[in-house]
Amino acid sequence: MRLGIAVLLAVLIAWTLPHGAALGQAAGVKVIVNGVEISLSAPAVLSGGQVMAPISGLFEPMGAVAAFYEADRTIVISNRVRTTVRMRLGDPTLYVNATGARPSPVAPMQRGAQVFIPVQAVFAALGAWTKYEEAERTLYVSSQIKSVVTQASPDALQIRIDATGPMRVETHVLSSPDRLVVDFLHAALRTQEREIPINSAGVTRIRTAQFQVKPYISRMVFDLSQPVETRVTTSPTSYAVTLEVRPKDAAIIAQPRPPAPGLGERERAKIAGVTFQESGQAGRLFIDATGTMEYRVREFVYPDRLVIDVQDAVFIPVKQEIRVDGESIVSVRAAQFTAAPPVTRIVVTLKRKMNYVVSQSDGRLAIEINEFTARGHLVALDAGHGGRDPGAIGPTGLRESDAVLDIAMRAREMLQRDGIRVWMVRDSDATVELADRPLLARDAGATILVSIHANAHTRTAVNGSETYYLTPQSLALAQMIQDELGVVLGIPSRGIKTANFLVLRDSGIPTVLVETAFISHPDEEARLRDNTFRQRIAQAIHRGITRFLAIYPTPVAP
Ligand SMILES: [Zn+2]
Repeated sequence: MRLGIAVLLAVLIAWTLPHGAALGQAAGVKVIVNGVEISLSAPAVLSGGQVMAPISGLFEPMGAVAAFYEADRTIVISNRVRTTVRMRLGDPTLYVNATGARPSPVAPMQRGAQVFIPVQAVFAALGAWTKYEEAERTLYVSSQIKSVVTQASPDALQIRIDATGPMRVETHVLSSPDRLVVDFLHAALRTQEREIPINSAGVTRIRTAQFQVKPYISRMVFDLSQPVETRVTTSPTSYAVTLEVRPKDAAIIAQPRPPAPGLGERERAKIAGVTFQESGQAGRLFIDATGTMEYRVREFVYPDRLVIDVQDAVFIPVKQEIRVDGESIVSVRAAQFTAAPPVTRIVVTLKRKMNYVVSQSDGRLAIEINEFTARGHLVALDAGHGGRDPGAIGPTGLRESDAVLDIAMRAREMLQRDGIRVWMVRDSDATVELADRPLLARDAGATILVSIHANAHTRTAVNGSETYYLTPQSLALAQMIQDELGVVLGIPSRGIKTANFLVLRDSGIPTVLVETAFISHPDEEARLRDNTFRQRIAQAIHRGITRFLAIYPTPVAP
């Protein structure tokens, strides 16, 4: 894209990750969202019962993004499940999605460069739980569990837990009596403690309760009649988590239970070691021990990894590392994590988010690691220009159309390796009319569209990457791709911007235009010729897209 075509509509709010405390917070009010203390760009204040805080950085831990459109003085907040909240400066009304308007106790306001919003009112409109603690001068905000739906058959129990924002799930297995404990971190459960009788699939009943507040943890305890295996799946289409509980191997059930160890003298497991089997993009991890293991599995990101802690377990080899360097699994490390009480920790480092299933039998804990699929999505990649239109041309003659085609082909390969379907606007030096591109993508059934360009400016000193979007549903995709570009490219990140480009206007699906680097800048032109740099751009686009697909609803098949 050439500069000058762009009609800038908005002043975008800097994407600031909350790292530590900002200056001036001591005097103001603290805001903690899903366990993360927000590093506010200006001190929050109280007004009319509302905490008024600057919008930047507030919504990321809730899986939502905010933008301020200066031209029409509008603030737009949108989340993964397409809830959109709009407010205008000076207007005490919350516009939720297309239909709902509800009063807000206080209107948003501008002070200097900062836009302040009524924090409780906006988060409540997103369905979050908020509580202001006067004594601590702290506002707590957390995701809220909306519903728990169980579906039982003799060989499987499925529980779908739907929430209004992201939750983290931890599972623990406890013995005497046998229980499965599932904790939902950063999730408020505002219904009364509940008991759900099940008597199926090895589960006698489920109890749900708010286990802890500040930070919020909701807990489900499954009383078990026999050993079970569980599978936790986070939905790519919503904030729901599905638990699947199945009875383990029937042969084990028939055997008499070993006598329970005496009180205060619990059996200490000795772990002989861990083994790993790779099979294509999946893998199996085995942890072998004497006796039953009490364990919990947690997921972390950046990098994606699974952490398995085995309680009361001595790790005989002390330390063990398995380099896998596979398509989806990088390594497995195991070590004695603490000595008293003895905890063995096993860390599986992944190349990307994966699903996992844990099962235990006869002194062996097995963790099956499977592909995380973005079922139903079709990603359209649009390499800009081509054919009759070479796009911008660098000082030494590099054509934008050639550089971006190569980047798009690389991104296609990475997405396909992840099992994601890709449709290319062009996969050769072909002419495709600009106006046709979004329509072709839509007709092909694409669910998102990413247009790839190299930037140009008459001032050759201008450099860096930037990503454009137009519709609210495209904002998170733009942000995620730009985040990744900013991390890996080693050139300045110019952030995300809105522009009324043709390609962003007509597709009806989340659509962004990535300006990878300035081809008019001599150094960046040289980099754009370099395969390593092109590969890094493709990786950033790939990573941004997979992050987005993991949170964006799969559209219903036509
Ligand atoms: Zn271009």
